[in-house]
Amino acid sequence: MKIGCHGLVWTGLFDAAGIRHSVNKTKEAGFDLIEFPLMDPFAFDVEAAKSALKDYDLGATGSLGLSAEADISSEDPDVVRTGELLLNRALDVVAEVGGTDLCGVIYCGMKKYLEPVSSQGLHNSMAVIGRVSDRAADLGVNVSVEVVNRYESNILNTARQALKYVQELGRANLGVHLDTYHMNIEESDMFSPVLNTAEALRYVHIGESHRGYLGTGNVDFDTFFKALGHVGYDGPVVFESFSSAVIAPDVAGMLGIWRNLWDNSEELGAHANAYIRDKFTAVNTIALH
Ligand code: MN
Repeated sequence: MKIGCHGLVWTGLFDAAGIRHSVNKTKEAGFDLIEFPLMDPFAFDVEAAKSALKDYDLGATGSLGLSAEADISSEDPDVVRTGELLLNRALDVVAEVGGTDLCGVIYCGMKKYLEPVSSQGLHNSMAVIGRVSDRAADLGVNVSVEVVNRYESNILNTARQALKYVQELGRANLGVHLDTYHMNIEESDMFSPVLNTAEALRYVHIGESHRGYLGTGNVDFDTFFKALGHVGYDGPVVFESFSSAVIAPDVAGMLGIWRNLWDNSEELGAHANAYIRDKFTAVNTIALH
């Protein structure tokens, strides 16, 4: 199992210097991999990332939330095409840096919708994700669709919905991406979504209910980690936290990051790495009970 950290814990600016800084700090905090934010994959400096990952011996994944202009669940073919081009570039970036996974809100815009998805929009979303998954398979990359709360998507708000979506597409490298922050809002509990998606679960985000320090909100992490242990999950587990102290304006606006929940990235990252590893250390002893 690889324990990772989202790049936005370290910097809001992913130019060459920001990439190197975030890779260095992720390694220093004790993580195995960094998740690069790929909101604009065309501007991402692949060479800078490759050299930093090599120098610090760190793994990588990539994630993004599509903007309204690149929403593949749109009924406008031009918008859908824009989204597919962006996803294909993001996929190439992940493959070029030697990464393993592309995940996030890649199946629709990451925004508050004011109406349900149309049948044409859902069809468009699934058609693109099917093609992106096939391309990803050729590149040896996993694709996973992140289940998020109702204010950030109108397609996948629960694990059950995501399971149906990926099962209908039926690609071996396409799976479900669960995030504890969103589960805490929409799911019935923190155990059954993991059991229900077990075979399809490919990616996990660990976030607190307010997106700050793990253990200071109301996410039931003990139950969630027991569930991961129960199904033998061994994919990426990536810490995600956002504060106005470290800002990427595009992401901050989409996610509503208005408050400063921490200002020391090093302390936050080291704490999260230890918190997650300690939970797994404890959960792994359940087999002895
Ligand atoms: Mn997430």
